[in-house]
Amino acid sequence: LPRPEAAAVSTNAQLFERAQQSIPGGVNSPVRAFRAVGGTPRFITRAEGAYIWDAEGQRYIDYIGSWGPMILGHGHPAVLEAVLAAARDGFSFGAPTEREVELAEAIIGLVPSIEQVRLVSSGTEAGMSAIRLARGATGRSKIIKFEGCYHGHADALLVKAGSGLATFGHPTSAGVPAEVVQHTLVLEYNNVEQIEAAFQAHGKDIACVMIEPIAGNMNFVRASVPFVKRIRELCDQHGALFIFDEVMTGFRVALGSAQSLYAKAIPGFTPDISVFGKVIGGGMPLAAFASSRRIMQNLAPLGPVYQAGTLSGNPVATACGLATLKEISKPGFHEALGAKTRRLMTGLKAAADAAGVPFSVDSEGGMFGFFFMPELPQNYQQVMTTDQARFNRFFHGMLERGVYLAPALYEAGFTSAALSDADLDATLAAAKDVLAQA
Ligand code: PMP
Repeated sequence: LPRPEAAAVSTNAQLFERAQQSIPGGVNSPVRAFRAVGGTPRFITRAEGAYIWDAEGQRYIDYIGSWGPMILGHGHPAVLEAVLAAARDGFSFGAPTEREVELAEAIIGLVPSIEQVRLVSSGTEAGMSAIRLARGATGRSKIIKFEGCYHGHADALLVKAGSGLATFGHPTSAGVPAEVVQHTLVLEYNNVEQIEAAFQAHGKDIACVMIEPIAGNMNFVRASVPFVKRIRELCDQHGALFIFDEVMTGFRVALGSAQSLYAKAIPGFTPDISVFGKVIGGGMPLAAFASSRRIMQNLAPLGPVYQAGTLSGNPVATACGLATLKEISKPGFHEALGAKTRRLMTGLKAAADAAGVPFSVDSEGGMFGFFFMPELPQNYQQVMTTDQARFNRFFHGMLERGVYLAPALYEAGFTSAALSDADLDATLAAAKDVLAQA
């Protein structure tokens, strides 16, 4: 008998089964496994504009965008051209290039707090290196982070971190010795009293305070202006450095990143060190940490803080990042993206209200969050009181209707400039349908 045509195509379920034989859990990053929501992860074959397609040929409107990098949508022509041209000139040299300098200059031009940039290949590397730099520059050991903020999987930061870890219900990872995290203090997000008490107790030993200014690893929770202002004051009083982890928010919530929004509310505000990733690579492995010249001079080869990378400043990745930054720097880009995101959020809220479902929404630029609760949460504990079963039903209902949302209630959502009004309409129609049954 002739083989039926369809047999040549592996289903998502078949691919997931096969993947689990050769890759732990079938995935190379835990959240992709759909553990929080159940069901079968979609194996993606291609993407274009606002859409991704899975192995079964199913099309989805993409609200993950590779977890943040794809702010222009997939395969933007100018970015594609830049990447192809760079690839023709060579994949990696392990030697300096003009393009790295251009990317550093572009970042410096967009973010006033920054005078120098070091490029790396992932947000994890950037966050880990920023901490080492802060410790090296201050000669101190203690670091402060906040519950629900994720700064990558460096040992010292895997202390009650959010994101994938929350799924498995472990406050810390196995394999991280207690000695390695003994200098990491984990405090409640948006809790001014706790940070004051921490500085009171340990002020002279604190190297840095690290924060996601809009936390995207506990869905979408803003650091309040008084909270950020107080951390800035405490860091200044005690000689600690304030690190903004803008891996997710950088160049996405505003062209000047989240710090530009806080500078509007707190005159003169800047963080001491900034961490970037995602958008600055446009989908290629690229991230960065950056600061004043004075602080960056501590890095090798100038100073005693060691940091390096074979693929750092990779020529193809920097071409992708530069082309992406050029597109998003065009006048009105973030305003238009923000309007799309707000339209989506307003529509979702209206659909939930009509269905009598408790719901709250927030967004900034191309990043959003929605909660199955009447008020926006302020910290991780509150986020985790969300009705998990209801979120899961909503997620799967949307997925069945061709809308690809983050597969966990503690992850932010991402919009892209490629989304059309028709895409937003289709998303809201699906949501109305699903919420009416939720
Ligand atoms: N910081 C933040 C705020 C992040 O959201 C992430 C990843 N989602 C990271 C750091 C780590 O980046 P990467 O996954 O590139 O290592």
